[in-house]
Amino acid sequence: MDLYEYQARDLFEAHGVPVLAGIVAQTPEEAKAAAEQIGGTVVVKAQVKVGGRGKAGGVKLAKSADEAYEHAQAILGMDIKGHTVSRVMIAQGAEIAEEYYFSILLDRANRNYLAMCSKEGGVEIEQLAEERPEALARVNFDPNTGVTAEVAKDIAQQAGFPAEQHEELAQVFQQLWTVFSEEDATLVEVNPLVKTGEGKIIALDGKVTVDENADFRNPAHADLVDESAEDPLEAKAKANDLNYVKLDGQVGIIGNGAGLVMSTLDVVAYAGEAHDGVKPANFLDIGGGASAEVMANGLDVILGDDQVESVFVNVFGGITSCDAVANGIVKALEILGDTATKPLVVRLDGNNVEEGRRILAEANHPLVTTADTMDAGADKAAELANSALANK
Ligand code: GDP
Ligand code: MN
Repeated sequence: MDLYEYQARDLFEAHGVPVLAGIVAQTPEEAKAAAEQIGGTVVVKAQVKVGGRGKAGGVKLAKSADEAYEHAQAILGMDIKGHTVSRVMIAQGAEIAEEYYFSILLDRANRNYLAMCSKEGGVEIEQLAEERPEALARVNFDPNTGVTAEVAKDIAQQAGFPAEQHEELAQVFQQLWTVFSEEDATLVEVNPLVKTGEGKIIALDGKVTVDENADFRNPAHADLVDESAEDPLEAKAKANDLNYVKLDGQVGIIGNGAGLVMSTLDVVAYAGEAHDGVKPANFLDIGGGASAEVMANGLDVILGDDQVESVFVNVFGGITSCDAVANGIVKALEILGDTATKPLVVRLDGNNVEEGRRILAEANHPLVTTADTMDAGADKAAELANSALANK
C-alpha cells in the first residue's frame, strides 16, 4: 500500500526523522486554520499518490494564511495525472540551501535491500539515473543488520558528500532505515532531503510503501487505508479475504493457486488474440478451499465488474477434489441466482475429475459450458466474451 505524503511525514516524525510541521486539510477553511496554527510561510501541497506534484502545480508557497486559503482552493479538486486532489497538506515553509535524494528499497533483481542517494535531489530521479548514473550512489546492504552507522557513512561518502556532512546525514539515513524496517516498508523515498539555510538536514517530502503481507503485525496500518481511493471491487474482495486484482479486460478468471491463475491469464490473453483481442479481466486465486461460499464470493466480485462478459473457471483438483469444486460452483450459482448473468466456462482436472464433471453435467446449468483442457476453455471463454461484445 502506498501512503500519502502526510502519512509518510507522520511516520517519519514518529521514528525521529527530522521533518517540519505538517497538517492535512480537506477544505480551504481547514487549510487557512492550519496555516495560522503553523505560522509564517507555509507550503500548500496536493496529497495524491503520484510523483511530480510540483511540476503539475500542486505545490505552492503561501506567505499568509489567506494565501494558503487561495492556494488550497485552487489545488483541491485539481487533477494530477488522473488523481483527483481531495486533501492538501499545509507544511511549514523551509529555506532550502541544497536538495538531495535518498531512498531505501527492496532490490528484487539482486534479492537484497538497496539504498540510493544523490547530492542532486528535487529532480526526477529516473531521469538522473538515466542521464548521469554516476551521480546516483547505489549501496546494497545486509537486511539482517540494516543501515548501520558504518553503512550510512558509506552511503554519504559514495554519494560524494563532504566529510563534515557525513555524521548528520548518516544519522538521518539510519532513522529512515528504522522507518523502513519497523513499518515493514518496501520503499522509503525522500526527494528532496534538504539542507536548510541554517545547515540542518530535513526530509521535505516522503514516499512510503508498506508491505500489506505484514499487516498482521502492524495493526496501526489499518488506519492508513484510504477507502475512497481503493478500487471498490478490490475492497470487496479484500473484505472477503480473496486474492483479487482487477485488470483491464473482458474475461473474468477464477483459479486455484497463484501459479495456475497466472498461467490462465497468459493462456486467455493468447486465446483472445483470435477473438478481437479480448483480455483477462482480473486475477483471482480462490486457494485450496474452493467451497461454495468462496466460489460465490469470487463470482460475485467478478460479475460486479461491468467490463466482464464471460468467466473462465480453471481448477486443478488437489487436496480440494474436483467434485467439491463442482458442487461449489453449482451451489454458488444457486446463491447468486439472478445476479449471475454471464456465461461460465469451467475446466476441471485432477483429483476426482470424473465425478466433478458428472456433477456439472447433471446440474446442466444454462450459463455453464465445460471444457476438457485449459486451452479449449480459454478459447471458449474468449469467444463468448467477444460475441457478447459484438451483440451490444
Ligand atoms: P513532488 O513534486 O511531488 O516531488 O513534491 P515535493 O514535495 O518534492 O515538492 C517539489 C518541490 O517544491 C521541492 O523539490 C522543492 O523545491 C519545493 N518545495 C517543497 N517544499 C518547500 C518549502 O518548504 N520551501 C521551498 N522553498 N520550496 C519547497
Ligand atoms: Mn518530491
